[in-house]
Amino acid sequence: MKACRLCPRRCGADRSAARGACGAGAEIRLARAALHMWEEPCISGTRGSGAVFFSGCTLRCAYCQNYDISHRSQGVDISPERFCEILYELKAQGAHNLNLVTADQHLEAIVPILRREKDALALPIVYNCSGYESEEMLRLLDGIVDVYLVDFKYADNALGQRLSGVPDYADVAAAALGAMYRAVGACRFDSAGMMEKGVLIRHLVLPGFRKNSLAVLKTLSEILLIEEIRLSLMSQFTPNGVAKEPGRRLTHFEYESVASCAEKMGFLGYFQAFSSQNAAYTPPFDGKGVTK
Ligand code: SF4
Repeated sequence: MKACRLCPRRCGADRSAARGACGAGAEIRLARAALHMWEEPCISGTRGSGAVFFSGCTLRCAYCQNYDISHRSQGVDISPERFCEILYELKAQGAHNLNLVTADQHLEAIVPILRREKDALALPIVYNCSGYESEEMLRLLDGIVDVYLVDFKYADNALGQRLSGVPDYADVAAAALGAMYRAVGACRFDSAGMMEKGVLIRHLVLPGFRKNSLAVLKTLSEILLIEEIRLSLMSQFTPNGVAKEPGRRLTHFEYESVASCAEKMGFLGYFQAFSSQNAAYTPPFDGKGVTK
């Protein structure tokens, strides 16, 4: 962890002594580990997804809906042994899968555990991430992850700089999506419709940035076979009270025009109802399931 260069920020922090640009230190830090019903139906199913929310974030978007954990690193430090126990506790609770939410900054600590326990856990591993993953990070995850549940936020590097403070989001994410697809292949579902393998791409339509959303769809159609992935188009943005932009809610026109374009282009997947604009989809980051 000395001079960490794990993620594309490559900030070089000595995490044994200080937190990196992602807010992570030397320990695994979690904000919540519980069954979660608010992912896409093929992830949450009827019993819930075993969601493990990690603290910190390599991207830290201004408008983040999980601000307390991504920017303020709210959470509890745990040992690798406790992390392993948590995975089995979620399995015992009936989780359809294990859903690692924003785990990038903790990869080096959790990958050996996941690799060792994968067969015994016998559940799909869902890697729920920002799209800002380097080649090295995806190589670490090779053979561990079954489903990439990944954001594709911007098709334009300048917008990534403006809203997420990184100069190369569009380029990094496009390369990462290709690598994720090569690693897990086309979407596959079990007889109950639960996703077992594949890439499910989320795109949150941001107020005032409709053209970015249309460009995101175009880029996806150019770099992937859209019939072999699934899209989850989201309208749920709610101003977080901290960021200056976007400072308003999405309009009906903005969302419908992007949704209609996605449909015409042949994307399959999920189109969130326009009425989903509220904070109810953000769980309380109260440490549930983290400590014994
Ligand atoms: S994972 Fe965190 S500490 Fe490591 S390079 Fe990225 S931002 Fe810096």
